[in-house]
Amino acid sequence: MYRIDHWIDGRTVASKSGRSGKIYDPATGQVQGEVGFADVSEVDKVVATAKAALPAWRSTNLSRRAEIMFHMRELVAANRKEIASLLTKEHGKVLSDALGEVARGLENIEFACGIPNLLKGGYSEQASAGVDVYNIRQPLGVVAGITPFNFPAMVPMWMFANALACGNTFVLKPSEKDPSASMFIAELLKQAGLPDGCFNVVHGDKTAVDRLLDHPDIAAVSFVGSTPIAKYIYETGTRNGKRVQALGGAKNHMLVLPDADLDMAADALVSAAYGSAGERCMAVSVVLAVDTIADELAKKVQDRIPNVKVGPGSEPDSEMGPLITSEHRDKVASYVANAAGEGAKVLVDGRSGAPSDGFFLKPSLIDNVKPGMKCYDDEIFGPVLSMVRVKSYEEGLQLINDNQYGNGTAIFTRDGGVARQFQFDVNVGMVGINVPIPVPVSYYSFGGWKASLFGDLHMYGPDGIQFFTRSKVVTSRWPDPRTSKVDLGFPQNR
Ligand code: NAD
Repeated sequence: MYRIDHWIDGRTVASKSGRSGKIYDPATGQVQGEVGFADVSEVDKVVATAKAALPAWRSTNLSRRAEIMFHMRELVAANRKEIASLLTKEHGKVLSDALGEVARGLENIEFACGIPNLLKGGYSEQASAGVDVYNIRQPLGVVAGITPFNFPAMVPMWMFANALACGNTFVLKPSEKDPSASMFIAELLKQAGLPDGCFNVVHGDKTAVDRLLDHPDIAAVSFVGSTPIAKYIYETGTRNGKRVQALGGAKNHMLVLPDADLDMAADALVSAAYGSAGERCMAVSVVLAVDTIADELAKKVQDRIPNVKVGPGSEPDSEMGPLITSEHRDKVASYVANAAGEGAKVLVDGRSGAPSDGFFLKPSLIDNVKPGMKCYDDEIFGPVLSMVRVKSYEEGLQLINDNQYGNGTAIFTRDGGVARQFQFDVNVGMVGINVPIPVPVSYYSFGGWKASLFGDLHMYGPDGIQFFTRSKVVTSRWPDPRTSKVDLGFPQNR
């Protein structure tokens, strides 16, 4: 048993609230630790610390901020195995997947190393006689990140790398289910040379989140999690005058056209539906198969499923680990249990045969799924793939565009013209063309449309820099006695 507490001003600070949460090992089902939950006074202390660190940090020159990000890049790279093993220990994902998470998070720190270039503004000389105009981007102040359980290292890296590089100080409220990675990251940031107080971690639940949302010294909130909470965060935060980006849930469809390479499509489906036990916001959870190839594709997916090795994430040959909690495992299983009663056909039932210790399920495949069925309408967030049979490209596209979510989607085809039309037509934020999980690289931005994102700016990349800064435009004239006169008219150039 171990205990996780807050990270405030460069050191661990024990929570005195008397409230805590259990940390499970999802591979055994046993409680392995506890995490202290902040009360309002503890959140206030964290925010006050971040506020006190702000003036010195935002004055720190760009080269130094970049240097710290470069150091952090090296430290994360050198400690990638340690971070990955923490992810496996508390989240349950297999080690190779955890290493992938760290690698994709690291990209965001690499992006932030370019901060001197990223913060360049524009300059217009002689906008009027002797007058120059330029814009600068300045940090917002103390900003908060609130993150989900499924990427305990990568999603915080999406946020803090750009936020800190832009000159903000940061308060992270990670998922209470797997809080250890954030503490390890905090120590690495300290080693990288980040001054104490610039990065803080406060653990907790709704009490902590609600205080961050109404704290007058929090300027912005970056959130990733489920859609109902994302909507709540966006509405509450913006009502309190904060800048908010709140990324929500997903129901990602992959459209497979008759001309696609069906083996490639089946490999992609198995990887994207069952990787990380389907607990990825970019997981493919629906395959739209055009009628003529649906039987063949279903068979190819079905044939591959028995080869997926389900087991503890720490075992080298495991390909898919457990789900995060027993409640979540049971909820996911209920979609498979109810599917037949709704008229669908369960081709592979993953409810039996998984290791009995821990929160395991094996992959499930449900055919003949239709809108209106629970397994289609809800975000399942588990290793369940639903197949919807469609007559045409147009019918498939319509289903994607009618869906409440718009996070990711993919099309599998050999026809470049149709793929290009899909990219033009589809109302989804991230599109893969023969790529099942199109998570953008760090120099683009990540974000869905519709109920998958509340706010105006996407996460990380160029949007991340915009989100964590605000623009100031300066109009300047240096004293020149020859041009000085009284003029009560409105300033104009001509
Ligand atoms: P969640 O919404 O339950 O929790 C996210 C964060 O919000 C956590 O830090 C949690 O402590 C906090 N929270 C939970 N309930 C709250 C409440 N009532 N009031 C205030 N704060 C609350 O999400 P989760 O289960 O940790 O993560 C899975 C979800 O996240 C899935 O829906 C998944 O699709 C989504 N997700 C989305 C993206 C994306 O980029 N769009 C990425 C990863 C995960």
